[in-house]
Amino acid sequence: VRIAAFEAPGGQARLGLVRPDGVEVLDITEQAGTNDLVTLIERWADVGSRLAFAGPAYRVGDLSFLAPIARPRRNIFCIGKNYRAHAAEFDGSGFNAGAAAHQGVPARPVVFTKPNTAVVGHRRAIDPHLRLTRMLDYEAELAVIIGRKGRGIAREDARAHVWGYTIINDVTARDLQRDHEQWFLGKGLDTFCPMGPFAVTAEEVDDRDLLVECRVNGELRQHASTAELVFDVPELIATISAGLTLLPGDVIATGTPAGVGAGMKPPRFLQPRDRVEISVSGLGTLINHIASPEEA
Ligand code: MG
Repeated sequence: VRIAAFEAPGGQARLGLVRPDGVEVLDITEQAGTNDLVTLIERWADVGSRLAFAGPAYRVGDLSFLAPIARPRRNIFCIGKNYRAHAAEFDGSGFNAGAAAHQGVPARPVVFTKPNTAVVGHRRAIDPHLRLTRMLDYEAELAVIIGRKGRGIAREDARAHVWGYTIINDVTARDLQRDHEQWFLGKGLDTFCPMGPFAVTAEEVDDRDLLVECRVNGELRQHASTAELVFDVPELIATISAGLTLLPGDVIATGTPAGVGAGMKPPRFLQPRDRVEISVSGLGTLINHIASPEEA
């Protein structure tokens, strides 16, 4: 099923089931007994199979979306340089400084995090932080949502720990990423983690071959299959959980394909009012715009 988080007309956070036709969202907050997707994931074994397409209906076009996990309980796990062609373009961009500055495809996954305060939903504005950066960039990514707690998860058991999937835009200030060596500031500013438009449960998705695409103002910039991931989803879960406990509701952004603005000659960074659309097969399209000076 597809689950969205949204703001009801009164402003309260709600959870909704997206109808298969994609036109309507049914408010399931009462059935679920919570308006927080992480809490629902924790109760999924009891509640998930009983969720019904019932409840107050909203038209998708009228909804004020929140990120499906609107307030993650901790940082978003992210993977750097996880597509060969992107590793090559990043090496050649001049922005590859600091923690993962070695050239080529990493021998082991490069893991970093974005703070939970960076998360925003579908159709929300991305703050360009013009006082801090003039090198704002997009990164289209498949994100995995963990369903079952675990440490030392074996590769072959990893998919049993996945609850579902969503889309993340790993928004990055390339100058901050380069100048501060660690990537945290360049990738962690407020609004730098658009997520959504909704979450899709694992049984509907085969993460081994999903098309990941990014368009800026309608122009196709990124286009690749998750089949090209250097480290696939089970490998990422095994690696991250080797010595730390993964929890229900944890999110792992799996890395971005080639085609980021920093990799172009000359680079093409995002500007106020630009529209970024990220699509992943079966997961919908996450749309955000860069805030104009009037909005910021
Ligand atoms: Mg990324």
